[in-house]
Amino acid sequence: MRAVVTGSAGFLGSHMVDALLGDGHHVIGVDNLLTGNPRNMAHLSNEPRFQFLNQDITSPFDPGQVDLVFNMASPASPVDYAAYGIETLMVGSIGVRNVLDIAKKYSARFLHCSTSECYGDPLEHPQSETYWGNVNPIGPRSVYDESKRFAEALVMAYYRYERVDTRLVRIFNTYGPRLQASDGRVISNFLRQALDGVDLTIYGDGSQTRSFCYVSDQIDGQLRLMQSDEYTPVNIGNPEEFTILECAEAVLAITGSKSKLVFKPLPEDDPKQRCPDISKARTLLGWEPKTPLSEGLRLTIPWFKEVAEPQPHAKGRSKDDSEEAA
Ligand code: UDP
Repeated sequence: MRAVVTGSAGFLGSHMVDALLGDGHHVIGVDNLLTGNPRNMAHLSNEPRFQFLNQDITSPFDPGQVDLVFNMASPASPVDYAAYGIETLMVGSIGVRNVLDIAKKYSARFLHCSTSECYGDPLEHPQSETYWGNVNPIGPRSVYDESKRFAEALVMAYYRYERVDTRLVRIFNTYGPRLQASDGRVISNFLRQALDGVDLTIYGDGSQTRSFCYVSDQIDGQLRLMQSDEYTPVNIGNPEEFTILECAEAVLAITGSKSKLVFKPLPEDDPKQRCPDISKARTLLGWEPKTPLSEGLRLTIPWFKEVAEPQPHAKGRSKDDSEEAA
C-alpha cells in the first residue's frame, strides 16, 4: 500500500515511517522541518520505497493516490509549541483539514495523532477516553491543547459528514531515540543532564506525575488502531505512573550519574497528574505496552550519548527575538 506520514522528520513520525517501510509499504513523508530534523530520515536516503516532500501541511498539497494517511505533524513538546504557538494552532486546524481532504479524495484510511493534553490538568484519574478534560483555553498550553481538541472535532466531523474512515489516537508521554536533545521534555532534559553530569532540573516539588511509554510500544498501538474499525479516540500510553522525582531517580540509577537535583519553578498550567486508562486499547486492540521505564531508558541512552545534539530552533520565541527564530 501507499502511505503518507505527515511529520515524518519528527520523533514519532520518523518511527512510523520505519515501521511502515518494514511492513512493505511505500511511504511518502511530509514535513516542513519546523521542529522535525532531517537526520531522523537520513538512513532512508537510498530507500526506493520512501519519498520525502518538504511541505508545510497548512498549504494544500497532493501526494497522489494513497491508501493510508498518518497525520503526525505538529510541534509537540511544551518548549516547541510555546516557541511556535500560532504555527501549532494552524497545523492543528488548517493543516489537519488539508490532510483530511487528501484522505477524502483518495478514500484512504486516516489516523490522527491527538494527545493526552486534551484532558488538560485532569480531575479524573486515570484518564479514560470518556473524560472531557479540564483545559485552560487561554493559558500558555492552550495553543497546543485547543489545536488538538479542535482537530479531534474536525476529524469527527469528516467522519460524520464526509464519511472519511478516521481513527484518533490520544498519545500519552512517549520517549525513545530521536527525541530532540533540547525539546525541554522531562526525559530529554534528565538524560542529557545526567550524562553531562549537571544538575537535574525538577520543576515544582516533583510530586506531579507522568506515565512514560517507550516509542516502539506507542507505534505498535497506533498501527493496531489503524487496522481496527474504531473511530472514537483511543488512549495509547503506559499506565505505569511515576512522580517526576521518581523519574529523576530512575534516570540517575540507569545512567549511574552523580548529578544532583535542583528545583525550579513549575510552569503555568503544568498538569498535576497524568495516567492513561488503557482498558479500551487492551480490549479493542489486544494492545498493552511491554517496555518498563528502566528498559526504555537503557535503550534511549545511546541516542543521547552519541547522536543527539541541541538544535538551534528549539528555544523559546518572544516578541524580542522573533526575527532571529523565524
Ligand atoms: N519537567 C521537569 N524538569 C524538566 C522538564 C520537565 O520537572 O527538566 C516536568 C514538567 O514540569 C512536567 C513533566 O516534567 O510536570 C513532564 O514535562 P514534559 O515537558 O516532558 O511534558 P508534559 O507532560 O508536561 O507535556
